[in-house]
Amino acid sequence: MVIRGVISATEYGINMELKSYKETGNRRLHRVVAEKALGKPLPLQAEVHHADLTKSIDSPLVICQDSEYDKLLHTRTTVLRAGGNPNTDSWCSYKKHAAPLNHFYFRMNGKITTTCKVCNAEKERIRRKSRKMEMSNMSEMDTTPN
Ligand SMILES: [Zn+2]
Ligand SMILES: [Zn+2]
Repeated sequence: MVIRGVISATEYGINMELKSYKETGNRRLHRVVAEKALGKPLPLQAEVHHADLTKSIDSPLVICQDSEYDKLLHTRTTVLRAGGNPNTDSWCSYKKHAAPLNHFYFRMNGKITTTCKVCNAEKERIRRKSRKMEMSNMSEMDTTPN
């Protein structure tokens, strides 16, 4: 089920003087605002996304059907802000850059990796190097007389 809509806290008349974004009772204020806009309790899996990626009280809210969709919005917004095209690019979180989708691996579950192929190869090299150093340190220890 896809439930989407853009709303903001002040639009729905919640008194921001008294309540902070942190917690309202044991509930997060943006969830309260989203439910008020939706007119019913949020579905269990639903995530409330801040469209401008801030936690500001006036941030437009998007009700996402799940955290996966929320993550997708974060990726698309980050790519867009970096000057990329969210329809053809994804975001490499390792070196923080946009790259075309075919620069990423797709996992068995159809999800894309968060590190691009180039950065992944670099990560592998570093991992291999440190493993080699560990091994040579160990062999040194073996040969050091006590
Ligand atoms: Zn979000
Ligand atoms: Zn990368």
